[in-house]
Amino acid sequence: MRITVLAGGVGGSRFVGGLREEVRRRAEAGGEPASIDVVVNTGDDLWLAGVRLMPDFDSLLYALAGVNDTERGWGRAGETERVAAELREWGVGWPWFTLGDLDLGTHLARTAWLREGLTPTEVGERLQRRWELGVRLRPATDTEVDTHVEVADPDELDGVRSLHFQEWWTRYRAALPALAFRQRNIEHARPAPGVVEALLGADAVLLAPSNPVVSIGTILAIPGIRETLAETHAPVVGVSPIIGGRVVRGMADACLTAIGVDTDAAAVARHYGSRARGGILDGWLVDETDAPAAASLAEAGFATRAVPLWMRDLDASARLAGDALDLAADLATGLAAGAAD
Ligand code: GDP
Ligand code: CA
Repeated sequence: MRITVLAGGVGGSRFVGGLREEVRRRAEAGGEPASIDVVVNTGDDLWLAGVRLMPDFDSLLYALAGVNDTERGWGRAGETERVAAELREWGVGWPWFTLGDLDLGTHLARTAWLREGLTPTEVGERLQRRWELGVRLRPATDTEVDTHVEVADPDELDGVRSLHFQEWWTRYRAALPALAFRQRNIEHARPAPGVVEALLGADAVLLAPSNPVVSIGTILAIPGIRETLAETHAPVVGVSPIIGGRVVRGMADACLTAIGVDTDAAAVARHYGSRARGGILDGWLVDETDAPAAASLAEAGFATRAVPLWMRDLDASARLAGDALDLAADLATGLAAGAAD
């Protein structure tokens, strides 16, 4: 069995870690072995201090390798920041965006390989070789499509300033009201090699509970991805990143508000749309506290189930991934209630 996941960084890592565990447990219990491909958001990527950063890819890489800082929630465990202090002295980079020493090692390796002519996908393959991840990470595209955020600025001629997503997110903590998110050059991007095949060849396609705007939204904006999702024979099942009207971690609500979508599990499903009606989802998992929304979502063409969505530890994440796989399996065999045909 082949599973393909669309994912961003933090929500993506927790979900994929749980999925890997669930697949392991099922195989140990005599179930069908499964492979996992992860199509990773690249909209957060940037050039900084002369090196290429791929934050969501690295979050997944570090978390799945078990070398991530679980307390801080990002970066490497046991990190030091000596180089960052020097860069600050030189006035290079962003003083509010700390690059840890171990993390910089990754960025230097990546940049070296990019300068040798490797593509981001090929660089990603090399980075993954260091550890037994048990999943395959694929940048969604090899084209640079760094997300920029437009904010109101009376000092600009047209009243609009554009800043890199990371500046808006990390420096301003998403507090500047966003007018628009633009993935630069995305109209000329193509899915990275293997991405379309991973979606078409999948038995189940899962959307991690990642940021619907700047993580999943960016992947979906790459020309060809939506069409492929419409075409794949695999059921497409999403997991809500919103529980009881709140983002669980982070500031994704600021992104949803900016594009006019309520911070609400049902609103996010409607934003993605039902595949039976031109959208991308067959199934949708909401939290038990959002169970009252399930009936109207079923009418709108989403096979909806209410299950615990808090990924508080590996067990909870594995159970959630199992629920997503079960819904996909039921959709594939026509058993899922609420599935539109
Ligand atoms: P980022 O790239 O690091 O911002 O991470 P993602 O885009 O992958 O995911 C961020 C989203 O994950 C947040 O907006 C949260 O809504 C969601 N999230 C984080 N933890 C949980 C959780 O335990 N359960 C669910 N359902 N969603 C979560
Ligand atoms: Ca991200």
